[in-house]
Amino acid sequence: MRKILIRLNNAWARLRLTGIAPENLLVLAPHCLQRSDCERNILSDPDRCARCGQCDVAGLLRLRDALGMPFRIVAGGREAVAAVKRPDIHGVIAIACGKELTAGILASFPKPVLAIFNQCPHGPCRDTCVSLDEVETALKRLLAR
Ligand code: SF4
Repeated sequence: MRKILIRLNNAWARLRLTGIAPENLLVLAPHCLQRSDCERNILSDPDRCARCGQCDVAGLLRLRDALGMPFRIVAGGREAVAAVKRPDIHGVIAIACGKELTAGILASFPKPVLAIFNQCPHGPCRDTCVSLDEVETALKRLLAR
């Protein structure tokens, strides 16, 4: 059921977000994407990542550098909603699990949120990953050329 709702939401979000300027499209990623044994404090500043490539944070930073959208890593829903409410943010690509995505979509309304599921090969909330191809494809389809 949750997957169906997110799919419907994504169809609506794509319509609303197509042609958005990169600086107005926030990419939000969950803290669990960072390797659990990495000591870099990337919550306050993702650029503290050393880009060692052992988790997908490095790849997301590469996409940010190439395409120019703001990028935040957040530890919880309250922080995510505060980032989304900024007036310069007109829409969001959010990476998270189904539960967090659903809560984020509702809390961010009426701002459109394109939801991308992370994968949890080590169980929930630990050493998760995301398809960088899926994120890159979504960004390239939405951003104004
Ligand atoms: S890419 Fe490396 S340095 Fe960056 S957050 Fe992941 S493990 Fe840490």
